Amino acid sequence: MTGEQGPGFSTLAVHAGAQPDPATGARATPIYQTTSFVFDDVDHAASLFGLQAFGNIYTRITNPTTAVLEERIAALEGGTAAVAAASGHAAQLLIFHTLLKPGDEFIASRKLYGGSINQFNHSFKSFGWDVVWADPDDIASFEAAVTPRTKAIFIESLANPGGVVTDIEAIAKVAKRAGVPLIVDNTLATPYLCRPFEHGADIVVHSMTKFLGGHGNSMGGAIVDGGNFDWSREGRYPMLSEPRPEYGGMVLHETFGNFAFAIAARVLGLRDLGPAISPMNAFLILTGIETLPLRMQRHSDNAMAVAEWLSGHDKVAWVSYAGLAGDRYHQLQQKYMPKGAGAVMTFGLKGGYDAGVSVVSNVELFSHLANIGDTRSLIIHPASTTHRQLADAQKIAAGAGPDVVRLSVGIEDAEDIIADLDQALAKTA
Ligand SMILES: *Cc1c(COP(=O)(O)O)cnc(C)c1O
Repeated sequence: MTGEQGPGFSTLAVHAGAQPDPATGARATPIYQTTSFVFDDVDHAASLFGLQAFGNIYTRITNPTTAVLEERIAALEGGTAAVAAASGHAAQLLIFHTLLKPGDEFIASRKLYGGSINQFNHSFKSFGWDVVWADPDDIASFEAAVTPRTKAIFIESLANPGGVVTDIEAIAKVAKRAGVPLIVDNTLATPYLCRPFEHGADIVVHSMTKFLGGHGNSMGGAIVDGGNFDWSREGRYPMLSEPRPEYGGMVLHETFGNFAFAIAARVLGLRDLGPAISPMNAFLILTGIETLPLRMQRHSDNAMAVAEWLSGHDKVAWVSYAGLAGDRYHQLQQKYMPKGAGAVMTFGLKGGYDAGVSVVSNVELFSHLANIGDTRSLIIHPASTTHRQLADAQKIAAGAGPDVVRLSVGIEDAEDIIADLDQALAKTA
């Protein structure tokens, strides 16, 4: 079944983690729609609760359907283990809960998904976890932000929405010098386009809600442990390096080695914070992942065709898409995601705010909504929706100026996608 290097990416996307169901022979992974699992006997229960044996107790912590999804994502990213969560934001919460104590800091790229900016600026601050912002186009700004309280660095490989490609290797060097893990949100690229662990990342996080699930029908998040970070030093990450009273004084990094971070996020984070994914959503996302390589290539090829067509349109002032040869991120795209630049792009309309409203009002094939990573083509005019509460200067700083339209290009026929934009632009002054 496998080539000399082990199974290829497309084979892993279909098979990793799965086997015919041992109880029934079912070929598709069954939806284990159960909250809890019967123990063999009292000793078995004791060994599960004490982390001496792997097995299922309760779906908040593990579930067999979810376990197949976790193994598949770990395989696709090239990590040692993964933990699924109810959403991308839940996965981020589990990561920082495992790494930070009140009073600690982390450095984050300024160019992030808007929801992450809110989560870091507001909810995380109320936990005493202080974000320090840095500029992904200026690596020195990351270096300058490091203090003795810094516990992690957080970036996106391909940033939402502007098509910003981050120089992962350069920031990984900063993280290494600071002795902190580099966390990479790989949602927009997916492991099909970009593999952050090969460039020095320590932890990968996903919103599986987007391209991994891929069909716009289920929320999910994932954490992937790269297995290379040394958690043992000087009590900097106490959840991993100090004895756990509830597990008989076990030290997680000693017992679990290169997947200790994933274990901690599960047996401390999921256990106590509780944002578990439902088995039904795990099943839907797992099914979506089977076609990830096909979909991501099609998304990228369609987006490239759309970006080139928009670049030549007389009502379009600019197009931001890293796949375009003249784009400022094109060289980084060629290095980190050579198979394609993904589905998401922004473009500016010469007609400004009113033209943006007109285009989103006149599209027919595109859906006007606030999401990305669906099979369907999606469109939004941030200035009149997600960013409408901001002042104009703030909108522009966030890449959501009055003229900006964002697309998540779907997997329909490229000619139909372009024809829809063509007729909407024709109706726009
Ligand atoms: C959507 C998204 C998130 C948040 O994920 P949810 O599943 O919506 O909680 C985080 N990062 C990026 C890049 C996203 O696009």
